[in-house]
Amino acid sequence: MSVSAISIRGARKHYGPLQALAGVDLEIRQGEFFGLLGPNGAGKTTLISALAGLTRLDDGVLEVMGHDVVSDYRNARRQLGVVPQELVFDPFFTVREALRLQSGYFGLTRNDAWIDEILEHLDLTAKADANMRMLSGGMKRRVLVAQALVHRPPVIVLDEPTAGVDVELRQGLWAFIRKLNTDGHTIVLTTHYLEEAEALCHRIAMLKAGRIVALDTTSNLLHRFSTHALRVRLA
Ligand code: ATP
Repeated sequence: MSVSAISIRGARKHYGPLQALAGVDLEIRQGEFFGLLGPNGAGKTTLISALAGLTRLDDGVLEVMGHDVVSDYRNARRQLGVVPQELVFDPFFTVREALRLQSGYFGLTRNDAWIDEILEHLDLTAKADANMRMLSGGMKRRVLVAQALVHRPPVIVLDEPTAGVDVELRQGLWAFIRKLNTDGHTIVLTTHYLEEAEALCHRIAMLKAGRIVALDTTSNLLHRFSTHALRVRLA
């Protein structure tokens, strides 16, 4: 059996008295398009932050492509591209400089051809030399996606990549992310939009108060619960 793209076993995290993750177990297979859904505060970002090595769990094991996120961090991080929720950039860097900086983080000094390719795919070529502060929110979101791809990771986690993005741009991002998946990348997407998960994801886990309360194929979940009931659960 091939190794899981992401393996989460017994993940627990408290922030003081607040229990953000209450024992999460999840296996995401290579090549899956997986949706992580849940209302505000369900623990989605905490889980992603722990996978990226930015938050340390109180307990549990996280692996990316078989590499332990704590004991084998460098290899685990190389396998993972993360598109964070927050639009945080140095406003004085150009788009290209931001991507070169991210490449350098992974020790990639000659990455310009790949950076140009990513910029083109994301329709950002014309903005390559613009300072980050000059970009619209939707463009900044696409730069975040570009940053996640500079080291060609097989597994890509996107934390609400279409939040605050207009409908047209959202469709463009969906098409791009879907292409990444058909090209063989494993995709994990968190979203509040049920229609987004429905359109894209093979399987969905619903997280609530730090626990997985439902896990199934998208079609089975939609069959089991009405769209209205799922929307209520996400509220
Ligand atoms: P959203 O959909 O709003 O982004 P989420 O599912 O990503 O929510 P998290 O951001 O993981 O949820 O938050 C889970 C819980 O942990 C929330 O109650 C949140 O307030 C709390 N929390 C998250 N980060 C911290 C922190 N650094 N310090 C204290 N509490 C935190």
